[in-house]
Amino acid sequence: MIRIITDAPEFFSDLGDVLRLFYGDVQISLTDGDAVFEHRFTDAGGAWTDTWRSGGVEEALTQPAFTGTPVEVKRLRQRQVKLALYNLLKRLGGIKPPWGSLTGIRPTRLLYEAMEAGMDLDAAVEHVQAAYDVSPDRAALLKEIALMQDGIREARPDQFDLYIGIPFCRTRCSYCSFSSGELGDGSRVGPYVDALLKEIALCRDMMAEAGMTLRAGYVGGGTPTAIPCADLERILAAAQEAFPTAVEWTVEAGRPDTIDAEKLRMLKGRGIGRISVNPQTFSDETLKRIGRAHTGADTIAAYELARSLSFDDINMDVIAALPGETVADFAHTLDVIEGLAPDSVTVHSLAIKRSSRLHEQLTVSGGHTQTHAEGAAEMIAEARRRLTTGGYRPYYLYRQKYMAGNLENVGYARPGKACLYNIGNMEETVSVLALGAGAISKWLFDRALRIERAPNVRNIDEYIARTDEMVKRKRDVIFQTGVRGG
Ligand code: SF4
Repeated sequence: MIRIITDAPEFFSDLGDVLRLFYGDVQISLTDGDAVFEHRFTDAGGAWTDTWRSGGVEEALTQPAFTGTPVEVKRLRQRQVKLALYNLLKRLGGIKPPWGSLTGIRPTRLLYEAMEAGMDLDAAVEHVQAAYDVSPDRAALLKEIALMQDGIREARPDQFDLYIGIPFCRTRCSYCSFSSGELGDGSRVGPYVDALLKEIALCRDMMAEAGMTLRAGYVGGGTPTAIPCADLERILAAAQEAFPTAVEWTVEAGRPDTIDAEKLRMLKGRGIGRISVNPQTFSDETLKRIGRAHTGADTIAAYELARSLSFDDINMDVIAALPGETVADFAHTLDVIEGLAPDSVTVHSLAIKRSSRLHEQLTVSGGHTQTHAEGAAEMIAEARRRLTTGGYRPYYLYRQKYMAGNLENVGYARPGKACLYNIGNMEETVSVLALGAGAISKWLFDRALRIERAPNVRNIDEYIARTDEMVKRKRDVIFQTGVRGG
């Protein structure tokens, strides 16, 4: 455990994030701990200094006093206190995280902020690199993403995106932290679909009242294709009838063992243009180890079936640094991906969330939750090299806590195959109406300067029992002061 003594306790949680960049999933306390990091703030005639000390080593960072609104000053203070601590940790640890002092989910946001302040793209990239000690390689990645998003990042103020969650899976993967339940005997699917149809109908009226239309729809989970074909079709039919204006529909057909010709034909018939068939890895041993009840050959068969039915926008997700995987295992996965040539590939770095079974296993076995840091970096670099050589371009990026090697998740796509929903959701450029258990609606106000969330309950039975209340939560957010731009 690490103890922080600070003059800025309001940033306690942010400071914990900085410490975790260097020490992994460590506990942080304001009162107890074996290692102590002490912070002092001084104001000497308009020069603000943050000094951090630990184990006899000291680092200080001085800036002219910040000006602006209280919110702006607080934000700048937060960045300065974090950066001062980061500088000390870098000196103590002798390592430099790839994203420097950045701990947030969306590094691209800082780039766009700099551009909104008047910088051109190159100047903005340089600014982010210098201000947050981001590696040149990651700065270059940000630039490539901004170029890919140019022209497709923004949505109209009267548009929203739709997320529908189907929280069922055949088995539970060891690293899963989603609110999905195992399918079991399937008896909860019918009542769940009924509740979802009710939520769709109520939201159709609400969105008509708000004067907003659907841009992109996304059905995720869980594994949407884990439920019977007729149930999935009922959901899609209701959503498409309620919101007929989508220019893009994605259905995660995640687990290949849930995909068959009947479901694929139904999806095709309903005009679903984009699907995701997710191998995660092509190592059968790893698949078994992480609790996915399918093989690499199943993934290839499902993918080829989809291709034979004319799906021309197929995404594949892979995960670097899965338990027990070597760089060679991951290279094999990339070999197979290259051979299949999907339209987009999302490369994740394993994040071991506290609610996952894997976290529990590692804790019980005494394993460290950031084991594969070095291997992960090599895997991620190899994926980027091979995918970009193969004609894919990075088009969205996000980071998570507890991610192996402090890396990132990156979506790569061939030209014209970038997913609008992924960009809008990750860059927070469009409001998202989210339906189903555990789905979280995000509403943008004041040109996206303020974002309000309306979460649905995670428990499936609670969701079924309280569907009206879930819609009311959204209504309360959407109509409080008018929707985005209003
Ligand atoms: S397929 Fe996805 S949602 Fe389902 S258990 Fe695995 S990680 Fe969780």
